[in-house]
Amino acid sequence: MTKILDEVLAANRAYAATFGDKGKLAMPPARRFAILTCMDARLDPAKLAGLAEGDAHVIRNAGGRASDDAIRSLVISYKLLGTREWFVIHHTNCGMETFTDEVMRGLLAQSLETAALDAGGWHDAGRGPGASEGEFVDWLTIRNQVESVVTDVRRIRSHPLVPSTIPVYGYIYEVGTGRLVEVPEATVRLRNRRPEGRGQKDRRGHARRAV
Ligand code: ZN
Repeated sequence: MTKILDEVLAANRAYAATFGDKGKLAMPPARRFAILTCMDARLDPAKLAGLAEGDAHVIRNAGGRASDDAIRSLVISYKLLGTREWFVIHHTNCGMETFTDEVMRGLLAQSLETAALDAGGWHDAGRGPGASEGEFVDWLTIRNQVESVVTDVRRIRSHPLVPSTIPVYGYIYEVGTGRLVEVPEATVRLRNRRPEGRGQKDRRGHARRAV
């Protein structure tokens, strides 16, 4: 048994020993909301958003991006399990800002082993062979946090399987302070949702006015 496996199983035994009546929780999230966020180890959605078991759905991937699979989960979250409000939370110092599709594809083509990051960027430290399959993956990297939150909230909001009645809030979590900071451009788009025309005008230069 590896040390990690041993530790995880020991922690689980302790958790189960004081599980209480959580076995009676209903499947649908009691507080009827969902969070899409990054898998970054520094983010603990239960703590940063005050969740207990049974409260909410948390969907995580690299970057907290609105990938097809994230949207699949959100649609199930609403359609079958009744969530009514969604959060998209990206964060400062995200690893997804440190590379591009091109970089990732190049690294994987060289070696499948863990790469190293230094002042000059990512470098392969391991041996080959690599694989070219990385060419066929959209790695959904992040150039700018505000931009990525806006893009993802917009994609979710405009998805044909997502009802227009679901508010989608855009936030950036600060890994240095633990604070959630709203991305008004993302959130306002949903609050400003209007018949075509008016909403677009507001989106241009008066993003904060309607908050
Ligand atoms: Zn991240």
